Amino acid sequence: MTILKTENLTKIYGSGDNAVHALQNVNLAIENGEFAAVVGTSGSGKSTLLHMLGGLDKPTSGKVFVDGKDISSLKDEPLTIFRRRKIGFIFQAYNLVPVLNLYENIVLPLELDGRKIDKDFVAQITDTLGLSKRLNALPNQLSGGQQQRVAIARALASAPAIILADEPTGNLDSKTSQDVLSLLKVSCKKFSQTMVMITHNEEIAQTADRIIHIEDGHVITKD
Ligand code: ADP
Ligand code: ADP
Repeated sequence: MTILKTENLTKIYGSGDNAVHALQNVNLAIENGEFAAVVGTSGSGKSTLLHMLGGLDKPTSGKVFVDGKDISSLKDEPLTIFRRRKIGFIFQAYNLVPVLNLYENIVLPLELDGRKIDKDFVAQITDTLGLSKRLNALPNQLSGGQQQRVAIARALASAPAIILADEPTGNLDSKTSQDVLSLLKVSCKKFSQTMVMITHNEEIAQTADRIIHIEDGHVITKD
């Protein structure tokens, strides 16, 4: 079953002489349970694609379907609710809430959604990510790599159907990167999750089920 689909997805930032064609007529289908890596040079449109797939920004034209629903037509509030139910984000720019400790940050999406917290499951995630000793700490007491792992734990804890990740291992050393990657893969298989991950790291991209190459706003199909 196709869980993410774009139809002639186009995103233009600015207008006139300053227009930047970040994505041009992208047609993409990602199947349920797929683990896809998005690769391309800086400025090729990877982040824009991830933002569009997650409904964080509106396309200039074209459509984005998430689990069969055309999210480009949703108004802000239903879109926020839909996104919270379906999608987990692991973004470097997506800051943790500074006044909440690690544990509270990790379970926040579940609480916002009024869902039950499975403490054992959360503990399993924080153990694997090496965070269990720091659960009472505030985000600003952590290193960048630790904060990154909290963002990963937060996305995994709500076991969303789709995880969108922007360089999830960007701040991590190679041993931790491998652990995090295995955790993401195990989580995907266990919950039949779909994962779309931007990476610059060729080795990491090679571990994905599929590599989506982007060049100049176009998805390049390579076999
Ligand atoms: P990547 O993630 O592959 O580095 P981006 O999706 O961030 O690429 O950017 C694609 C193109 O769109 C780049 O030329 C970038 O400068 C431009 N761009 C991205 N975001 C904006 C924005 N908010 N306003 C104007 N241009 C943008
Ligand atoms: P703006 O929309 O003005 O860029 P935001 O504070 O909404 O500012 O977003 C800051 C960054 O965080 C953006 O680059 C966006 O990609 C990311 N972001 C916004 N909302 C979310 C979200 N719900 N999940 C993950 N990342 C988000």
